[in-house]
Formats: sequence, C-alpha cells, structure tokens
Amino acid sequence: MKAALFYGSNQPLRLEEVDKPTPKKNEVLVKVAACGLCHTDLHYLDHGVSTFKKPPVILGHEVSGIVEAAGEEVKNLKPGDKVIVPPVFTCGQCEMCRTGRENVCNQMLMLGNHMDGAYAEYVVAPAKDTIPFIEGIPLEEGCIIADAVSTPFHALVNRADLKPGNSVAVFGCGGLGINAVQIAKALGAYVIGVDIKEKKLEQARQFGADEAFISDADLPKKIRKLTGGGVHIAIEAIGNPVTMQTAFSTIRTGGTLIVMGYSDKDITVNAGRIMFREMKIVGTLGCPPYLYPSLLKLVSMGKIKVKELVTHKFPLDNINDGFSLLRQGEESLIRAIVTC
Ligand SMILES: [Zn+2]
Ligand SMILES: [Zn+2]
Repeated sequence: MKAALFYGSNQPLRLEEVDKPTPKKNEVLVKVAACGLCHTDLHYLDHGVSTFKKPPVILGHEVSGIVEAAGEEVKNLKPGDKVIVPPVFTCGQCEMCRTGRENVCNQMLMLGNHMDGAYAEYVVAPAKDTIPFIEGIPLEEGCIIADAVSTPFHALVNRADLKPGNSVAVFGCGGLGINAVQIAKALGAYVIGVDIKEKKLEQARQFGADEAFISDADLPKKIRKLTGGGVHIAIEAIGNPVTMQTAFSTIRTGGTLIVMGYSDKDITVNAGRIMFREMKIVGTLGCPPYLYPSLLKLVSMGKIKVKELVTHKFPLDNINDGFSLLRQGEESLIRAIVTC
C-alpha cells in the first residue's frame, strides 16, 4: 500500500510502498477514506518532538474509512461498515478506563505516534475503540470528528457542564476553538468568540458566535459588561499562558475556566479570587468513546457542521503541500484533510 512516512524532523514525509497491515484477532483493517492534517503532526515534523515508535513511522490520527477486514474475535464491526478511528486507544483495565474516563487512560496509545497512523491507504485499529458512522455524515469530512470536534464536545458537555442559556467565551477560534463555538451554540449557549485575527472572528460568527471580539486590553471589561458580570465558561483553545490568564479574568463568580490548549508553562492566577468566588479551573483532553454517538447524532442533524469546516483537501501524494499550508497559517484554512 501507499503511505507517507516520517523519517525525522525538518524533512518532508516520504511517499513509499509499504506492506499492508494485517489485523490481529481483536482489530479491524480500515481502508482509509480521509485523515485530518493536525498541528500535532507539526511538532514531529518541525519542532523535533520524537514519536514513540521509532521512525520510519506513518503519522495521522483523525481517521474515517471503511472496514475491509475484521479479526476473528471482532463482534461489533464487519466489512463494509463506515467508521471513525479515534486518535487514542485505551487499555480498558485502569482506574480511568473503568470509571468511564478512557480519554485519560493511564496506558493510552496514540495512533500515528505509538504505532503507524493513517496517512496511508490502510490502517489497523482495535475494534473496541473504533466507532461506527451513522446516516447523514459525509465519509471524508467526517474524519475531523475524531479529534477537532470531539475534544471541545467533551470539554463543554462533561468538563464545563454547560447548561442552556450559559454564556461561553472561546479564546482562539482556530481548528479547535471554532468547534467549541459551534458546539456551545448547538447546546444553547450565548457564545463570544475571541481571536487576534479578524478573519477568525468572521469565521466564528459564521459558525454561530453571537459576538466576536479582537483580544485587546479592554476585552475582559467588555465581556463582563456584556454578560452582566462575566461568562459562565471561558475556554482556552490555544495553549498560551497569558491567554489563559485573560480568559480567567472574564469568568463570573462560580464560573469555570476550561484549559483545552496545551502549554508546558505555568500560569498565574489569584488564589483568593478562586477561593472567594468559587472559581473552577478545569483541564480537558480528548473525548471518551461513550460520548461519540450523541456527537454523531448532532452532526447528522446538522446542528454541528463538518463539511463546511474542511476548507482544504489534498490527495495523499500532495500531503507535504498540506503541511506547508498549515505552517503558513493560511487564514482561510479551518481544517485540512488528505484523502486516500
Ligand atoms: Zn489532532
Ligand atoms: Zn486505561
């Protein structure tokens, strides 16, 4: 089969012929329809972050496709089923897995990192982690549900405990943030998008933001005034410590700051404010598998859009052009995928 192989940082992926994988007894072989191009991959490609599997490794972790073969013990899927393969596989045994929190499994393995991923014609995945499609979801664009859409869904539904009529400010309206905007809207929130680029604010409005503001010194004051004291939920989707602090300053008494972006730096917030106003600062990572059916239903109903989010498609042969576009920070780009 054809695959795009990662050999190391600061070199393009190489398109090569490799052996088609064989599913083990609990796995499915999936003919890849599409795979999302994710900024996580740029950490390996550009920033010297190493993959757990020693290169050459096939990257790619936001997958949709069709089951081609199933191992002998697989009961939940059969050849011909359209599926989403999520970015992480879980052990099913640890405390987190056994309390419904597989997304923070202590032994989780990531596709296109611990093992070969899906910038290829085929990928194998454990059947227990693979999620069947439902009617009304486009097969190719559906791949982005696996990460970019499911992550903010879990963040808002489970971690922020969003209630209808809550006000939500989304900091950073890129690939993850734009989904936080449309999901919060679909769940009945009043939504404020915040970004440093006008184009991103325009996209936030397009996907349902009631208000959209450039991040400047007046922003916290503006948001507090607009929402009668601050938002119920602020969600940081960039991974910038300063933005996290700004976001914290926009929440009301009893409100929640959701940390969805990754940073290896510290943040500084006033402890008295947390205590006296019963503030919550909550982390979020990925999405537990049990939540996918509800999410897929909302997508199939048109409440959450995926087709419109995919602004760029590349054939697997041109995958490096796709990553160039991601690097440039092309403004019209919301989500790019490769089709295999
Ligand atoms: Zn990703
Ligand atoms: Zn586990």
